[in-house]
Amino acid sequence: MNAAKRLEIFRRFAAANPHPTTELEYSTPFELLVAVVLSAQSTDRGVNLATRRLFPVANTPEAILALGEDGLADFIRTLGLYKSKAKHLIAACKMLVELHGSQVPHDRTALEALPGVGRKTANVILNTAFGEPTMAVDTHIFRVANRTGLAPGKTVLEVEKKLLKHVPKEYRVDAHHWLILHGRYVCQARKPKCGECIIADLCDYQDKTWPEPMARASRAPQKAGAPEERASRSAAPPRPRKRAQKQA
Ligand code: SF4
Repeated sequence: MNAAKRLEIFRRFAAANPHPTTELEYSTPFELLVAVVLSAQSTDRGVNLATRRLFPVANTPEAILALGEDGLADFIRTLGLYKSKAKHLIAACKMLVELHGSQVPHDRTALEALPGVGRKTANVILNTAFGEPTMAVDTHIFRVANRTGLAPGKTVLEVEKKLLKHVPKEYRVDAHHWLILHGRYVCQARKPKCGECIIADLCDYQDKTWPEPMARASRAPQKAGAPEERASRSAAPPRPRKRAQKQA
């Protein structure tokens, strides 16, 4: 994919959603840290349901420590891996109190040293709490980057590095949210909604899926310049090239 296409992709994302952000609910960097740690293998919705109960009672490292591991586990037991998440969060809170004045550090190495915090979580905190142009590659971003041709890669780190290199500078801070939201709601894993996709004409994916009327139209013999064809050219994303070639 060339630079002009990448620029146009992010121009469209920005026009459609000028202020993208996480769907996790938080009001401080510490709350964000807790929510992101809890979100491993859980949905944002599930995490929000748990933190709506937890944060009014405990939203500082000291208050979470006062709950203790079992007390914290009671608030988050609806989430997968809740026991290990409670254990990690208690240990992380201890480190925050002892080493960082109870503040979430604005530093990758210090963040990644916290129990339960890996590279992806550190990237989310640096980006969302501190406005750094980091790229937290999750399953959605990995899929979208590969399918579209934006940043193809075999590993999460390869995709992260390519995105950091290729996403136009002015869009880097928000890119990770646009890509997550696009993967979550449009470019879904099992059946991407290519017919609703605002970047369909820029996407390199060869196996796009279309709603049946559009797919039928793409299979029908075309008369050059027919009124129906002219109308569909202006309203719909381009026909999937691969299928059109097979029919020819
Ligand atoms: S056209 Fe389809 S495959 Fe490409 S980004 Fe859009 S939804 Fe995903």
